[in-house]
Amino acid sequence: MKADVVILGGGLAGLTLSLQLRQRFPDLDILVLERRRHPVPEAAHKVGESSVEIAADYFEAVLGLGEHLTQHQLKKFGFRFFFSEGRRDIDGVLELGASTYFTTPTYQIDRGIFENFLGQHARRAGVRFIDGITVRGIELGQDEAEHCVSCELDAGPVEVQARWLVDASGRAGLLKRKLGLAQENDHDVNSAWFRIGTKIDINEWSGDPQWLGRCNPPNRWLSTNHLVGEGYWVWLIPLASGSHSVGIVADARIHPLNRINTFGRALDWLRQFQPRLADDLESKRERLQDFVSLKHFSYGCKQVFSGDRWALTGDAGVFLDPFYSPGSDFIAIANTYITELVAHDRARQPVHAYARIYEQLSCPSTTARCRCTGTSTGCSATLRCCR
Ligand SMILES: Cc1cc2nc3c(=O)[nH]c(=O)nc-3n(C[C@H](O)[C@H](O)[C@H](O)COP(=O)(O)OP(=O)(O)OC[C@H]3O[C@@H](n4cnc5c(N)ncnc54)[C@H](O)[C@@H]3O)c2cc1C
Repeated sequence: MKADVVILGGGLAGLTLSLQLRQRFPDLDILVLERRRHPVPEAAHKVGESSVEIAADYFEAVLGLGEHLTQHQLKKFGFRFFFSEGRRDIDGVLELGASTYFTTPTYQIDRGIFENFLGQHARRAGVRFIDGITVRGIELGQDEAEHCVSCELDAGPVEVQARWLVDASGRAGLLKRKLGLAQENDHDVNSAWFRIGTKIDINEWSGDPQWLGRCNPPNRWLSTNHLVGEGYWVWLIPLASGSHSVGIVADARIHPLNRINTFGRALDWLRQFQPRLADDLESKRERLQDFVSLKHFSYGCKQVFSGDRWALTGDAGVFLDPFYSPGSDFIAIANTYITELVAHDRARQPVHAYARIYEQLSCPSTTARCRCTGTSTGCSATLRCCR
């Protein structure tokens, strides 16, 4: 099989990149290879459900997905933080969060619904999206030679040649592993999350009319609600499929993973640290849909864009922390740089210099080093020196 661009992994990053490339270059031959079979399950699929402004704008204004978001996902009621450790009186604790909708819309995204839609949409747009195919090997082409990807379908092995190769394989990090680009960081955090097949409405935790009336409309449940305490936070994210996503993110030194790595343990832990949520979950536990825990989820990467016609996007590159839900913002930014690199290449412009600049702009703290001083002081200083 041949393509102009092969994208390894058809999750959020890979499928949105394929749409962005298709929009920009109607004649480009784009192939997306995804291991999972579609349709994927709704609700209990992946994390990455809360979007913020950059990603929401990317989905709507850049990719033209506004109709899907408004009709099939939930409009988010902003961020909300409750400093509620050990407390049941949610209306008596410090609450930080908007009382009305912001003018710039953001969305709570059911990843199963979204990826099923993105897969169909990409196919309709002329992207060759193959699901149920596993990438087994990568050989990068030298100089002008094409890259080669070996894959496995039920029917047997398949070889793909492409001028551009983008790794969007998430935590599998196929290219990062092959090239030894993984970079440790000191942010030692773990997470555990699950979906409950019903709504969790924080407003039901209070009968105080003044507190209930503070938000107009009374849509606290549509916020990304954070229940915060020392060394951890808990997320509550509603999903359009009717489920609610609940997750714990905790500093490993203060709340070790073995305190939260089964549903029973997570519930015991919540009874101690966020008892009002534990009460609510107790009455809904028969609606549990999944449970996942992830150790030390934060990592860096030495390089994500290359003038040798390869790039990494999404979790296949860098992932620091989900506190501000920035994961899909970084996807928007990386995909846009990758689209620019492909544009330069198609215009027969040299790509290496652009790849270096985009690298500095996207990960100044982990990768960009000023060639004059050898420091990684941030993109503005780096660009001033290295232009
Ligand atoms: C605890 C936690 C909470 C988070 N919360 C948020 C949030 O609220 N908002 C947000 O924006 N981000 C959040 N993120 C980040 C989130 O993970 C990313 O935003 C997003 O899911 C990354 O998408 P992706 O496409 O890079 O990876 P994925 O969605 O994982 O897609 C990678 C795809 O590659 C496929 N694949 C893997 N190996 C192969 C192979 N060998 N062959 C073929 N296909 C393969 C997989 O099947 C998968 O579909 C969170 C992350 C964590 C750890």
